[in-house]
Amino acid sequence: MKILIDMIKLRAAMAENSTLTLPEAYFYPTANNNGLKTIRELAVFRFTCRKCEDAPCIAACPAEALEKDSEGVINRHTNLCISCKSCVTICPFGTMMTDFFKHHRNKDFYYDLTDSKEIEKFISACPPGTILLTDVRESPADNIYKLNDRILIKDHIYKTD
Ligand code: SF4
Ligand code: SF4
Repeated sequence: MKILIDMIKLRAAMAENSTLTLPEAYFYPTANNNGLKTIRELAVFRFTCRKCEDAPCIAACPAEALEKDSEGVINRHTNLCISCKSCVTICPFGTMMTDFFKHHRNKDFYYDLTDSKEIEKFISACPPGTILLTDVRESPADNIYKLNDRILIKDHIYKTD
């Protein structure tokens, strides 16, 4: 069973309610992931970001907190980030959600997706229909992409070909 996170519906829910605080989920395939990285942030940088060659977000960051990994995916070092949101402002595609950068978030809003009880709580805390348990596989035709072995992301992906 996999967890499908529908980023399209999450964005729509945020657009409908500007005061909505989305619960966060994390899932670490390894112990070290440059700080507490939420699934939404990982998904956005992996799938929504257009991977600009000149990456203005990196150039605009005053804290050198952003870098590209070997696959061209932006990685934010949370220990360096000062939450100035210069990267959000300069990104020409509105890739990032501004609430990624809060330093002091309520820990009750974080759910560990390696724990089945936490998964249930996370699903209940999220807007209806945005998080599903499913047996489907990655399916680009349906905008469904694999983030890791347990998590699928549904989003519109920018493609150059
Ligand atoms: S919010 Fe963080 S990552 Fe973005 S520009 Fe500011 S310091 Fe850099
Ligand atoms: S500017 Fe925006 S779209 Fe371009 S690499 Fe940075 S986050 Fe991605």
